This record gives sequence, C-alpha cells and structure tokens, in this order.
Amino acid sequence: MLTQLKVQDFLQNAVRGEVTVSPDSITQFTQDCNEAITKQMTRGDEGYRIRMSGLGRPLCQQLLEREGHKEDMEYNSMFRFLFGDLSEAVLMLALREAGVEIVDFQRQVELEIAGHTIKGTLDVILRDELGEEKVWDIKSASEWAFKYKYTGAGGYEAIKNDDPFGYAMQGFLYAEATGLPFGGWIVVNKSSGEIAIVEVPDWSQDDKADYLKDAARRVKILTDPAKKPTVDFKDEFETFRRDGEDVRTGNKILARQCGMCGFKHHCWPKAVYHDKVTSRAKNKPKVWYGRLKKKEL
Ligand code: SF4
Repeated sequence: MLTQLKVQDFLQNAVRGEVTVSPDSITQFTQDCNEAITKQMTRGDEGYRIRMSGLGRPLCQQLLEREGHKEDMEYNSMFRFLFGDLSEAVLMLALREAGVEIVDFQRQVELEIAGHTIKGTLDVILRDELGEEKVWDIKSASEWAFKYKYTGAGGYEAIKNDDPFGYAMQGFLYAEATGLPFGGWIVVNKSSGEIAIVEVPDWSQDDKADYLKDAARRVKILTDPAKKPTVDFKDEFETFRRDGEDVRTGNKILARQCGMCGFKHHCWPKAVYHDKVTSRAKNKPKVWYGRLKKKEL
C-alpha cells in the first residue's frame, strides 16, 4: 500500500508542477511507447505459441488460435489496446519516479509445464518496505472494471472468480518461474487516471497450486493435436417480465465471454450487435445476440 501512496504522492506533485522527471525515466518511457506501437501495429503474423499471459483464457479461443484462425477485431480495438499499453507505460514511469524500489521489469521468464517450456514476460518485480521482493502485474482498466473488480467490493476474489483473460494464472506462473511470491496488480483507471493496488492475500498459496495444476491440464490439451476447438459457452434465451412471469423474446444472447471474443463470428455466424430489445432505457445498451428474431417488443 505504501507503493500506492508513493505513486499518488508523486502524481499529485506532478500535477502541481513540482517534480523533475529524470532523463533515464524519460528514455525508458519513450522505449516503452516504441515497443507498444511496434507490438500493436506491426506485429505481423507471429504464429501460435502458448504464452503464460494467455494460458488462463478460455481453451476454445486458444485452440482456434492454434488452428490458425484470426481474431476479428473492430478498428477501434487498436486505440483501446494502445491506450492500455501507453497508460501502463505512464504508470511504470510514475513507479520509477515515485521512489518505488524496482528490482527488475519486463523480465523474460520460462517454466516447464507438462513437459513443455512455456515462456512469458513479467511486468515488474518490486521490493517492498519490508525488503520482500514480489512479482507485480501492471494493468489498465476500464471505469467499470476499476470500480467493481479492482476496488470497492472487488479485489483478489472478484478477479479470481471472473477472470476471462486469465490474469490470476498469469501472475502465479510468473511467480513460480521466478521463485518469488505474486504480489498482485497495480492498476490504472484508463478513464479517471486513478491508481489502485490489488494485493494477493498471503493465504493464496493454495490457489497457486490449483492454478499450476490447471496450467498443466491446459498445456496438455493445447499440445494434443487430437483436441479440436469447440464452442464452450452457451447462448441464453432473452426474457422479460410480463404479468409476473418470465417471457422469452425468441432471441438468444451470447455469453459474456463470447461477446468479448474476437472469434465470435466464427463460433456464432449469425451474431449481431444490437440494442437490447428488452431494455426500456432511452439510450438502450447494445448486446451481442446469437440469434435475433425480434428486434423490438
Ligand atoms: S466465441 Fe465463445 S465459444 Fe467461440 S472461441 Fe470465443 S469464447 Fe469460445
């Protein structure tokens, strides 16, 4: 938590124009930005490989990637990804300049999992005020995720229980690869600029064993040529209340994981993004329908 206070204090002073950023930090920040642009805009076809950062994602997505399918992304994804990377670069600059003790960052690590060497790049290792070194992951979050997953009623358990990108597994794999504890996530709200630290509780060591076991199960599946991609999530009937009863519209809504997934048009060829038919809001939220028969009530 001292880390959070140090970063907030540094940024507060920066807002007042009371700090001087070291040339080394500016150089590193520039390099981080260069890497972000290169990674997001010129990645080309890297080919498939299992990465620690993605191993906890739904297996259906990873198997489709393995089979050479390409994710279908909207043009605005580029800005979202870049904003994420650039926000994280700013957060790293703030950590450096706030006097937080950075032991290492962007370290390449590897781990033998189920007979395969799995590689990854951890974000940062920090030494805390008690001298303990831990692995931390830097994340940028949407307003919603920051509010409900990383702060408030959210936290480690909330992330663990709803982890479509496999963040918890990623962190524990880095920890295992370095022999250090996983500290948790240092998060920036992309919308408000607020900073939060979500610590992994000490009793999470039991979870680590479970994640490592699950990682091995996943590697076995992903390296088995006989395993083919399947549609792992179900769409659900859309309903609304009428005379005290739930009534179906005849439409089906995609599971949240599918709605966020770049393979949705592969798995759900009729998927359509449409105003939520049952919403009474003036500005209706949009949802992904797997089947849209009724466009209004
Ligand atoms: S659309 Fe759904 S089922 Fe298909 S790969 Fe994505 S998450 Fe899996």
